[in-house]
Amino acid sequence: NEKNKPTEPTNSTNSILDWDHDLAPIPRLQVVDEHQIFSDKLSQYMKDWGLSDAGFKYDVVAVFGSQSTGKSTLLNRLFGTSFAEMDENQRKQTTKGIWLSRAKGMHVLVMDVEGTDGRERGEDQDFERKSALFSMATSEVIIINLWEHQVGLYQGANMGLLKTVFEVNLQLFQNQKSKEKTLLLIVIRDFVGATPLDNLANTLKADLEKIWASLSKPEGLEDCKITQYFDFMFTGLPHKILLPDKFDQEVIKLRSRFNDPKDPNFVFRPEYHKRIPADGYHVYASSIWDKVLTNKDLDLPTQQQLLAQYRCDEISNAAFEVFNERITPYKSPILEKGQVNLELGKVMKGIRDEALESFDKSASRYDQGVYQKKRLEMYAKLNIQLGVYFVGQINNLHKKAVIMFDENLRKQLKDPTYNFAQVISTCLKQANEYFINGAKATMLPETDWSYSREQELLTEDFKEISSKARTTEFKKMNKALEKQIETELADPIALELNQPTNDMWHKVIGAYKSTVSDGEKLLSKKAKSFDSSKEEIKKSVSELKKRTWIVLRKKVDDELADNLLLLKLRNRFEEKFRYDEHGLPKVWKPQDDIDSHFKKARDETLSLIKRFSKVDLSRDPDFKLESDEDFDFERTLTVLSEAKQIDITTRFKRESDAFFLEAKRSVVSTTAK
Ligand code: GDP
Ligand code: MG
Repeated sequence: NEKNKPTEPTNSTNSILDWDHDLAPIPRLQVVDEHQIFSDKLSQYMKDWGLSDAGFKYDVVAVFGSQSTGKSTLLNRLFGTSFAEMDENQRKQTTKGIWLSRAKGMHVLVMDVEGTDGRERGEDQDFERKSALFSMATSEVIIINLWEHQVGLYQGANMGLLKTVFEVNLQLFQNQKSKEKTLLLIVIRDFVGATPLDNLANTLKADLEKIWASLSKPEGLEDCKITQYFDFMFTGLPHKILLPDKFDQEVIKLRSRFNDPKDPNFVFRPEYHKRIPADGYHVYASSIWDKVLTNKDLDLPTQQQLLAQYRCDEISNAAFEVFNERITPYKSPILEKGQVNLELGKVMKGIRDEALESFDKSASRYDQGVYQKKRLEMYAKLNIQLGVYFVGQINNLHKKAVIMFDENLRKQLKDPTYNFAQVISTCLKQANEYFINGAKATMLPETDWSYSREQELLTEDFKEISSKARTTEFKKMNKALEKQIETELADPIALELNQPTNDMWHKVIGAYKSTVSDGEKLLSKKAKSFDSSKEEIKKSVSELKKRTWIVLRKKVDDELADNLLLLKLRNRFEEKFRYDEHGLPKVWKPQDDIDSHFKKARDETLSLIKRFSKVDLSRDPDFKLESDEDFDFERTLTVLSEAKQIDITTRFKRESDAFFLEAKRSVVSTTAK
């Protein structure tokens, strides 16, 4: 039945209270319903009311009083809210519950409590107590609404109500060290004015003291005063139905106590504030209601800490979500593709600062102990996550620095005039600078990050590459040296062995010495380039001497291979036997002593074999090379073994016999003519 429903207030235009020109009603929320369930929409309503970002810049006022004393009517006129009012014609009860709305034009949450008047109806006072507990824990100012004619009726319903409020208050705040006061604004309705307000207030104060004295107080609080917990304010309002204009005027005056901080009676003094940040109000209110329902001890400091923990986690999680969104684009390039981003440090710091700022902005309003602890946790977590990127980047820098070093080295070693030590030092400097500058730029303040281990590894890599390159270049140099030795030795040795004079070996040794000295010159030049140690130079020189000797000996062996040796012998023999002292071919005559000629030439020639067979050092008595495990200098002096000498002698003799026969035959043929 439509008519049985409580009418919605119209904020009718004929009212002089039309102070807010926005006619759209502010939505109200049944924050606790008739089944005592707490709404899950409060957070959304706080947003819709524009209060979630208000921080501490909002206030809460609740109203308390017997049923149908015009509480909702008053709130709607005072705050422009739209709580359900009871129809004047159809006195029908409104739904039980706790309602919340925002005041128009003020950062004020207004709480309206609807309940059965259990006291008058003899019902239980359970809901009254619960709602009192709830509004005391969450509001700064409680409006106590009562009729003028109830004042002084100590046994009246109001007194029972006030008793409940006081008891609840003691229960709530007994554990609180610094006592938060609550302001009780007592509004006397249908105030006629015959009895001055001050007199009424005094009567009420006396009653309140009496009630306070009658309370059984918790241990340790036996002597506490009512004024330690409450401040009081008294005001009267004319009869709304009979004196509507006067009522409206007084309501306007009353409103300034709520929205004008300069009003001497301004109610929202800072010391009443419950210090619940607006973005946590829904969580706090809901957990308070939970406690109220389960009838557990409601300890507000603990509640505030729980709230701080819950909200700080929420705020931190939200900040992390943004943080992750911001850092994700760097994941693939740094952690998968191995790229280096020299802006990464700046970027990470920016992202970290942003996350912390967004955390601080909201979380710093909560319990400081909890906030600081959660902030440290968050800082650590941020640094751990960012540390992964740091390590990734340092890794990538390491790899890139190695590549840079290697490539540069190769490029610079292509220039044949390179100085190896200098090349290494330039390349090292460049690659090291690249790494260190990159690493420094990636560091963040207030972290325990370090790149020294990676730098050590990098130095090792550089060492390894350098030493490999050095070995390669050394080998190249030695090859070149060997080539130089070979070419330098080839001609003189061939020449000397083809004209085996008496001092043939002396000249060969001379060629050896000058080749070694040329090699030494080249070596000393390279030694500077390779920054060689004295030890190393000494070793290289002795290697050079040995190698040159080996090359020389090989050349000698080549020149004295069987065929070439026989050829040399034949040449010498022919020179002696077939040509005269003027170099002209001999024509044998019958009177010529061919036999002794032949013998002389052959013996002379055969003596060469002895000369070739061993390196003769008689003219170089000091010449000597050091022997070692695989190099026996003395042995290398032997060129032709005994067996080889005999073999060559035999073969040459046989060959020379042909010349003898040919000479004999030529005489016979000339005589025969
Ligand atoms: P609540 O139950 O305390 O919220 O009371 P309501 O605001 O719903 O009003 C209950 C009844 O009291 C309604 O019929 C109102 O018209 C009436 N009423 C409102 N204000 C006044 C007032 O100042 N004096 C009197 N006598 N009646 C009022
Ligand atoms: Mg009401």
